[in-house]
Amino acid sequence: MSCPGPPWRAVLEENPAAAYPPTHWIPADSANYTVSGRPGTYPVDLVVIHLTQETFPDAMRIFQDPAAKVSAHYMVASADGYIGQFVREKDIAWHAGNWNRNTRSIGIEHEGWIDRPEYLTDALYRSSARLTAAVCDRYGIPKDRTHIIGHDEVPGSTHTDPGPHWDWDRYLKLVAGGG
Ligand SMILES: [Zn+2]
Repeated sequence: MSCPGPPWRAVLEENPAAAYPPTHWIPADSANYTVSGRPGTYPVDLVVIHLTQETFPDAMRIFQDPAAKVSAHYMVASADGYIGQFVREKDIAWHAGNWNRNTRSIGIEHEGWIDRPEYLTDALYRSSARLTAAVCDRYGIPKDRTHIIGHDEVPGSTHTDPGPHWDWDRYLKLVAGGG
């Protein structure tokens, strides 16, 4: 959790697409998402919360692997709340395992494991909540549990993230407060 100066940050470029909050553009391989023109092509009315079950760098490499067929719009690092953006919000990331929900949502990964609550740091919650609040403001998404859901709540989901240690009450309060 405390590895200093991760080298993957050195190659990042600032993402010009998102004005707030600041994120770093680390494009996923184009084989791992669907180019679209949201919200014109599909309305965006959901935020889907995930835990990676991988380290940030390992999940990043998965998003960059054209064989992986998976991506998320954003990923938040555990130690300091650093945010990488992998897919533009106008495009459809492949994170929910459900095409309809993918078309409607912004997917946010969080670096951690379901059974390792120490990864759910204050920095991670605050940074993620700031991002979710901004996404909700951009698309007029209500900041509630109907519209901010876990991967485990996606219909047909076989995934259990973000799991029992994810503090929804705390998160929703932070989102309501803008992070
Ligand atoms: Zn997930």
